[in-house]
Amino acid sequence: MQADRDGVAAAAPTGPRVLLRHLREAMADDLGPQERLDRIVQQIATALGAQVCSVYVLRADEVLELFATEGLAADAVHRAELQVGSGLVGTIAATGHPLNTADAQNHPAFKYIPGTKEDSFKSFLGVPMKRGGRPLGVLAVQTVKAQSFTEEYVEALETAAMVLSDLVASGQLQPLAVDGVGLDAGRPLSRKGTRLASGIGIGRAVLHEPRIVVTNFFNQDEEAESRRLAQAIQAVRESVDAMVLRGFDDDPEGSTEGDHMEVLESYRMFAHDRGWVRRIEAGIADGLTAEAATERTAQENRNALMRSSDSYLRERLHDLDDLSRRLLRELTGHGIGKIDDTDGDPFIVLASTMGAAELLDYQRAGLQGLVLEEATPTSHVVIVARALGIAVVGAVGGIIARAESGDRIIVDGETGVVHLRPLEEIAKGYDERLVFRAERTARFEALRDEPAVTRDGEPVDLLLNAGLTMDLPQIEATGAKGIGLFRTELQFMIAARLPKVAEQTRFYRSVLEAAGDKPVTFRTLDIGGDKVLPYLRTLKEDNPALGWRAIRLSIDRPGLLRMQLRALLKASVGRPLRVKLPMVTMVTEIDQVKVLLDRECEAQARFGHDLPTSIELGAMIEVPSMLFQLDELMERVDFVSIGSNDLFQFMAASDRTNSYLANRFNPLSRPFLRALRDIARSAERNETELQLCGELAGEPLSAMALMGIGYRKISMPPGSVGPVKEMVRSVEMKHLCDAVNDAVDGRMGTQTMQEMLTDYADQHGVPV
Ligand code: PEP
Ligand code: MG
Repeated sequence: MQADRDGVAAAAPTGPRVLLRHLREAMADDLGPQERLDRIVQQIATALGAQVCSVYVLRADEVLELFATEGLAADAVHRAELQVGSGLVGTIAATGHPLNTADAQNHPAFKYIPGTKEDSFKSFLGVPMKRGGRPLGVLAVQTVKAQSFTEEYVEALETAAMVLSDLVASGQLQPLAVDGVGLDAGRPLSRKGTRLASGIGIGRAVLHEPRIVVTNFFNQDEEAESRRLAQAIQAVRESVDAMVLRGFDDDPEGSTEGDHMEVLESYRMFAHDRGWVRRIEAGIADGLTAEAATERTAQENRNALMRSSDSYLRERLHDLDDLSRRLLRELTGHGIGKIDDTDGDPFIVLASTMGAAELLDYQRAGLQGLVLEEATPTSHVVIVARALGIAVVGAVGGIIARAESGDRIIVDGETGVVHLRPLEEIAKGYDERLVFRAERTARFEALRDEPAVTRDGEPVDLLLNAGLTMDLPQIEATGAKGIGLFRTELQFMIAARLPKVAEQTRFYRSVLEAAGDKPVTFRTLDIGGDKVLPYLRTLKEDNPALGWRAIRLSIDRPGLLRMQLRALLKASVGRPLRVKLPMVTMVTEIDQVKVLLDRECEAQARFGHDLPTSIELGAMIEVPSMLFQLDELMERVDFVSIGSNDLFQFMAASDRTNSYLANRFNPLSRPFLRALRDIARSAERNETELQLCGELAGEPLSAMALMGIGYRKISMPPGSVGPVKEMVRSVEMKHLCDAVNDAVDGRMGTQTMQEMLTDYADQHGVPV
């Protein structure tokens, strides 16, 4: 298989078209899988005028094995190997991007692969082999002459890689280098990520952005293929146009401006772009099917945009990928590509990132878990998932790329491990754990009607965080004292357009009815930051978390807030109304809202409508500036409520949605607990009701710390009520307060708060 190292560099490449014809013949001929692979590498080398063409296939042990070569030492086949990430080939497998260099041996990633005799080749071009995003190996060519390979080369090699990926994924090829190690595809995989919501989910994988695998590469009839493409393009354009029109309809202000509109418009521009279509047509003219040509064009776009220094263009990559997916779906007839989530069978959703509203689009019945690449415990999608009681694990490297729709998967929200295609023994172990968890749940249920009172008789009010109709049965099911935080924005986030006053009123009334005699605290709209309403025009902000959001937006858009206050007043006629304001930064903001509230009350009275029996107004403490105006705050409001998620984000200057920071800072730290204790002391001095409603309240260990520094009303997701109540009932409040305050004051030596609390729980038999 040694190439003629002197002569061939001069041979002109015969181009993609000829290569495609040869590939088609090699795939159709009656050959064994290895023979077929050998033939294909020869043909690629000849067609592209390269002295070397090699295929490296990814094995289950994350090693790339040389499976076939034209031009390197023949006896290196199935012997030469390389770790993912190592050398040029390993770098391509790790990054998923092509690598093109005229001087391979001086490239920083270069590593000589022993036994291959590759020293005399200067230029190197390698492209990843993937199927549906899953890495399968690398296809590379090398030449003696130093040259940078042209776009046309890269394109041709990528087309060949697409065809070869199908051969590799077919499972017919076998590695020889290591006995007992199979190929990567389909192997069991367990990876540890970050625990985001507890629980265990077992079911079939549903890819949130399903990939479409092209398996039909060569067209039989160019004209028929072009017609098929034209029809599919037409259908995609129509659906995009309809989407843009819908976008305009839903804009509450009837305006055509705004970020959202801009995005839709640029999307439409791409859909109608002639250049895009022409490149796909060129692929068909080369002999590809419409879907293979679409895939190839998408790959070209990706390569070009990734290289671009224009950040606007790089951002548009997502739009282009989405358009290609739509076109592929149209061409291959795959519906949305989700496995059917409506039959109630258990399933797990896998997404790189996702909004809270998108999660709610899934059928609740079978949804058991969520795997997210980018999220943190206080991201809103995670908060919603927790309210739904499903397990969530984040930052699980590589799992999503390797999963196929329908794979069996286990999400362990207790340990943060995800098992993809688990071995039978692992699956069995989990079945046993589910039985154990069922017993625990039964134990919590038995506590439902027992009071949340410490052993020395101190009551602690355990309240619910809620926001959706589906949360309401939880008031009854958990035995919670009431709703401490009703996130009203969730209704707005899942609606297609701004809910009208009557709709809001009906919804709030249903919440109050479900709560019966128990108190409900509604929070006014908290939008902005990572909570976006697709139909509401917002600003493009560099720092949305620090931006025009929550009460700031409400004050500037008083119409929106007054609509909501009116709905709350109407829904609460004949009973008390409790409202709290999110993200207050200056106490004067409360005064501004009071004016609006008074006006709404007057208007109601003027029209002869009854009012609630009482109205209590509270403020959330989520911005550190509030710590320095506590007395002014307390005298203005009926109650304060700490949003520990945001307060911590701003105190630690640590974005709550940034997964790189997820485990860096711990709210169970002295500075943060001191701040919370200052608030509690001020509330006591001012005789102002105090509650806390961040995620901190829902973990027994941190809830124990909160009790220690003076918190007696804490609001949490439904799944936390049982475990927190069990903790409350097993502690001595007085003793706990002394120990926690000593630790917060730094009188406990070098122990972290986390260690101190864990030791305390161990020593006093407190279940946490
Ligand atoms: C908080 O910030 O702690 C809070 C309860 O509000 P949200 O999580 O909805 O921002
Ligand atoms: Mg908040």
